[in-house]
Amino acid sequence: MGTDKMIQLIITRQKDDQSAPYTEEFLVPYRPNMNIISALMEIQKNPVNAKGEKTTPVIWESVCLEEVCGACSMVINGKPRQACSSLIDQFDQPIRIAPLATFPVMRDLMIDRSWMFNALKRVKAWIPIDGTHDLGPGPRMPEKTRQWAYELSKCMTCGCCLEACPNVNEKSGFIGPAPLSQVRLFNAHPTGAMHKEERLLAIMGEGGLTSCGNSQNCVEVCPKGIPLTTSIADLNRQTTMQSLKNFFG
Ligand code: SF4
Repeated sequence: MGTDKMIQLIITRQKDDQSAPYTEEFLVPYRPNMNIISALMEIQKNPVNAKGEKTTPVIWESVCLEEVCGACSMVINGKPRQACSSLIDQFDQPIRIAPLATFPVMRDLMIDRSWMFNALKRVKAWIPIDGTHDLGPGPRMPEKTRQWAYELSKCMTCGCCLEACPNVNEKSGFIGPAPLSQVRLFNAHPTGAMHKEERLLAIMGEGGLTSCGNSQNCVEVCPKGIPLTTSIADLNRQTTMQSLKNFFG
């Protein structure tokens, strides 16, 4: 049921990947239990700004709408988060929405996260298998390991931890907390461990583990509550062991 209450949104927009950003204000009719995506959908239905001028619909990316795909990451009132799980009632108004600054903007709130996916390729964040035929049951993992590994597997490559990390920028080349945590996950898997050394060597190079400044912002913003700093501490141990192994041949 509608009311006369309006939601005030100030959105950072950009026409394309080459254009300069600008802000545009919108007033959207309030309904109980709205999230940021439903407010953006109202603008899409009626693209008129707060001055009453006809404008272009705001562009954003979203898929699952249940905090699983990681596509709708945005900076909302200064904090990187998922637009689907961000309820309007949680925020002071005006609600300021901007694209993540760590990734190239394609248009408005839509960003290109390829950089993070390339980092996952660099660290071989997968379990290699021989073909797609049925290989039968794999080796079992100890229950204790399975429990923490499951927590790490919840990463949805949303990029919020990279956005919050002061060391992820073009100059440092730091791959960021999420790809590092995936190294810990895949190294713990009985089959994935076959490529443990390759993964560790990949993060011992430039832009790897030593680029972490231990600001601990990543754990604060991760929507999945992934223990990123625990992963980084564990990888410090693993890379130290690998260095000794390299040294002694
Ligand atoms: Fe997003 Fe958390 Fe994965 Fe970082 S670790 S990409 S914040 S889900």
